[in-house]
Amino acid sequence: MRISEVFATIQGEGILSGVPSLFIRVSGCNLRCVWCDTPYTSWTPDGEDWSLERILEWVDGFPRYRHVVLTGGEPMLFPESVELTHALRDRRLHITVETAGTVWQNVACDLMSVSPKLANSTPTLRDGGRWAAVHNRLRLNADVLKALTSAFEFQLKFVVSDQADLEEVRSIRRLVGAPAERVLLMPEGVTPESSAANAAWLVEICKEEGYRFCPRLHVLLYGNRRGV
Ligand code: SF4
Repeated sequence: MRISEVFATIQGEGILSGVPSLFIRVSGCNLRCVWCDTPYTSWTPDGEDWSLERILEWVDGFPRYRHVVLTGGEPMLFPESVELTHALRDRRLHITVETAGTVWQNVACDLMSVSPKLANSTPTLRDGGRWAAVHNRLRLNADVLKALTSAFEFQLKFVVSDQADLEEVRSIRRLVGAPAERVLLMPEGVTPESSAANAAWLVEICKEEGYRFCPRLHVLLYGNRRGV
């Protein structure tokens, strides 16, 4: 499968924030979020083909790490993710799959980290608007969201940029019947400064509605860089 990067770091987002984890980032995505923080896996996908054996050999080089994160791009686009995740399960590793929740694959997974894309992700003004209609048609798939959150332990992560996003968050939460503490709100922004601008009011929403506030630890620690 086409791999953009692999790296060992701490998980920066979600309920496993701070846990040392191995990241396997596939290249390729069916969406084109306007604020995508990994455009090298979506708008301009890079990387090279890795065999399953090569990926597992890399994982085996970090015996102290017990958590693996399969991320992207969109790892659920690729049938190879099924065999990879089952091989990771055979190694008794904890597997998180990070997905936008638009595609189903029969993966092995301990935490399905679903990040549904809200209207704020639509690339209306980017690339001449060429991707906007496709993105909007694909970005929410109710059947897949319900299947993923029924089949796996899950968290729902949302990138929020303004108050108007919250009605969409509530409606997706109702759709899948998620308890509030499984919903994590992240302030939009790829730098500590831009995230902070959205953080203050978002914390207040979390206090009122019982959601988890989710800073992006890796952005705070390392800034907007690859491989961290
Ligand atoms: S789903 Fe994720 S990888 Fe794909 S364009 Fe959106 S933010 Fe980028």
